[in-house]
Amino acid sequence: MNEAIIKLSAQGLNLWFGNKHVLKNVSVTFPEKQVTALIGPSGCGKSTLLRCFNRMHDLSPDARIEGKIMLENEDLYDKKISVTEVRKRVGMVFQKANPFPKSIYENINYGLKINDIPSKERPAIIERALKESYLWEEVKDELKKPATRMSGGQQQRLCIARTVALRPEVILMDEPCSALDPISTRKVEELIVQLKKQYTIVIVTHNMQQAQRIADQTIFMYLGEVVEEGRTDDIFNHPQKDLTKNYVSGHF
Ligand code: ADP
Ligand code: MG
Repeated sequence: MNEAIIKLSAQGLNLWFGNKHVLKNVSVTFPEKQVTALIGPSGCGKSTLLRCFNRMHDLSPDARIEGKIMLENEDLYDKKISVTEVRKRVGMVFQKANPFPKSIYENINYGLKINDIPSKERPAIIERALKESYLWEEVKDELKKPATRMSGGQQQRLCIARTVALRPEVILMDEPCSALDPISTRKVEELIVQLKKQYTIVIVTHNMQQAQRIADQTIFMYLGEVVEEGRTDDIFNHPQKDLTKNYVSGHF
């Protein structure tokens, strides 16, 4: 698709929930340090695809997966790689901010503890993660405050801080702004554009303007299949398929 290094890819990916064929022969690539938007109508399989990339379906006994997912040269479904390692390398941010019922500080500290980061290194990592997530100036004097008392936008940026603190290679975001007001949404978008200097980002969004503002490439899915993928500008302004044309112009 372009000359960037491919950080993450799916090849011939199929997924069934019981008898229901939800992902159909999906092959996609995610270039390193770029933002890729996943778009498509509700139920087309965006979240299901995203969850394949950090092995979230390991938890659902009725999910059956075929195909390959590669993180650079490593097969993410190789039995030799633990789920913990996959989750550290591929972080996830959800639609609804889900801070732990702990202080702002502890929300980040907790993941560091679980990943055996020595306690003397943690304060500096926490400060850096909050700075990278544009939160430091807002919260530096109230790190002991319960995270649940922050605004929705701050909570979402804290969840992003929690993810970046572990220095993942890829950050998956499933509609991270759909519960936020327009101002908080723009802050998170600015943050995403900054984060792509260091991380490869995949974002599911229903907001077509958002995809055009922040995504380098866009993938359009319909009924479990990839219909079209390409540079965001091409997908929105010169779509090749009628389905894509109809979806991006709102006639669906
Ligand atoms: P999207 O994120 O694009 O709205 P999803 O990936 O959530 O779509 O869902 C794709 C399809 O898979 C839908 O038909 C949904 O009902 C179905 N689905 C999602 N999760 C499960 C599950 N755990 N068990 C059975 N069906 C599921
Ligand atoms: Mg979804």
